[in-house]
Amino acid sequence: MPIDPTLPYDDDNIFAKILRDEIPSKRVYEDQWAIAFHDINPQAKLHILVIPRGKYVSWDDFAAKAPAEEIAGFIRAVGNVAREHGLVGPGYRLLANVGYHGGQEVPHLHVHLFGGQPLGRMIA
Ligand code: AMP
Repeated sequence: MPIDPTLPYDDDNIFAKILRDEIPSKRVYEDQWAIAFHDINPQAKLHILVIPRGKYVSWDDFAAKAPAEEIAGFIRAVGNVAREHGLVGPGYRLLANVGYHGGQEVPHLHVHLFGGQPLGRMIA
């Protein structure tokens, strides 16, 4: 079920639990601002989720409220993950779903990083 991105942050969402290491994930990156781990249900040969350590429900929440330093740190982390996986040469795709039309299911901001194969059209 898509979530309502206007609701307050829920500390019990699944990515909050992954951040606190209360449930396992295949973590591939971490720094001061963000962590990244493999999506449990990959939609491409490589499908990684990058999430900020801060408590933001969605891209909208983050864009509106995060301090500039945190925004820069998160954006750099996304770039680092892609670069470290050798995706810059072949290319890759980023996606952030927001709310009902976006199909967002987890109420903690995450950017999907797809790569490792040609990705076809933007929207199926
Ligand atoms: P979205 O629809 O943009 O909210 O995407 C949520 C993504 O989180 C989906 O691609 C799920 O496969 C993924 N996901 C859900 N639970 C987990 C988990 N425990 N570990 C890794 N990925 C997950």
